[in-house]
Amino acid sequence: MKIELLGTGNAFLPSGRTHSFLLIDEKILIDMPPTALFSLRKRGISPHKISTILFTHVHGDHIFGIPFFLLERKYISDRGGLEPLTIAGSPLVKTRIEELCELAYPSSLTEELKKINWVDIPEIKGWTFERFEVLHDESVEPHGWFMEHETGLKLVHSGDSGPCETLWNQIKKANLAFVEMGIPEYVESEMHHKPSSIQKLANENPSCEIIVTHTYIDSEYEILTKTLPSHPPNVRHPNDGFTAEWDGVNLTFSK
Ligand SMILES: [Zn+2]
Repeated sequence: MKIELLGTGNAFLPSGRTHSFLLIDEKILIDMPPTALFSLRKRGISPHKISTILFTHVHGDHIFGIPFFLLERKYISDRGGLEPLTIAGSPLVKTRIEELCELAYPSSLTEELKKINWVDIPEIKGWTFERFEVLHDESVEPHGWFMEHETGLKLVHSGDSGPCETLWNQIKKANLAFVEMGIPEYVESEMHHKPSSIQKLANENPSCEIIVTHTYIDSEYEILTKTLPSHPPNVRHPNDGFTAEWDGVNLTFSK
């Protein structure tokens, strides 16, 4: 099984990064940022190959890519409308996607939206899913995802969240966690992880591999900073295109 971070940046697009989102086994996505179609193209994944999208919350950098994705399927990669698509998330996800699509391409995506299989929790062979509330702006129905594969992989995606009990308890059970680090130490907010919160989390969970994403740190040239914080050995802070592979026993990482 292959898990790919197609983007690793926060909402502000740090240099060298696109918005954070995750691809699992070339067919499941977590979130659909504005840069998603660009990132899928770069990776060579056609939108019609995506069967399920799990959403964490409805902030723009996590959901605004959906009109472009659906329009591409309609006019290019799935002209026959034959490829099923399931969208999973809180009730606001469906409402917001319908609003966005109508705003972006009036009446063009009405039929596509009707064909979508809207679910709270997806059903995919071999997987069990749990969506849990996290600490973020309540008006966007913020959630994280816990996913367990029958081969033993236990994966957490934080969505956008500050340190909170619900998320940290899920990470205790996991062997791989993708955790956002949206803000630097000096920003006064409880709504995102900072370097010190990642450090604490990693020290409390030494057997979990923690992959930092949704980061504020520049990769190419300096806007805010290019300096990576020093983290415990179970933390990785990768660039776009990072890959984690699970063979049923071990995890291996691309870089
Ligand atoms: Zn957010």
